[in-house]
Amino acid sequence: MSTEAATEAALAKPVPLPDADSAPFWHGCRQDKLMIQRCRSCRSFQFPPSSVCAQCGSDQIEWVQASGKGKVFSWIVVVHPVPKPVYAADVPYVVALVELDEGVRMPTNIVGCDSSAIVADMPVEVVFKRVSEELVLPLFQPAGA
Ligand SMILES: [Zn+2]
Repeated sequence: MSTEAATEAALAKPVPLPDADSAPFWHGCRQDKLMIQRCRSCRSFQFPPSSVCAQCGSDQIEWVQASGKGKVFSWIVVVHPVPKPVYAADVPYVVALVELDEGVRMPTNIVGCDSSAIVADMPVEVVFKRVSEELVLPLFQPAGA
């Protein structure tokens, strides 16, 4: 690896690596659909994806499109570009746990508002950020923004 390539690799942001369980989630994002799992046995929603239900252990799992609506459960404002300098252009940014209307909590970023405007239980809605042809990230913004 050349020095330039090594530097570029060191600066690159990590990206999600879909596996057998999460591939339908990432495929849905590419189609602007927020997909979560629901158990056919006990009807529980779950996220993150798994091959079995976290509530009852059933392997009868189906994918359903979530409403894309939820509320801020918790959040932090990142002001230091760690762990990599490549984040320097992004700070400050908000890392949050959003509780979807379906009841599952999803780690994400809050965008579209000043971080000081965020409050607990603030209504938010999904917005999809196209990072590349293969990668689309589900972020959340204030509802109705
Ligand atoms: Zn279940």
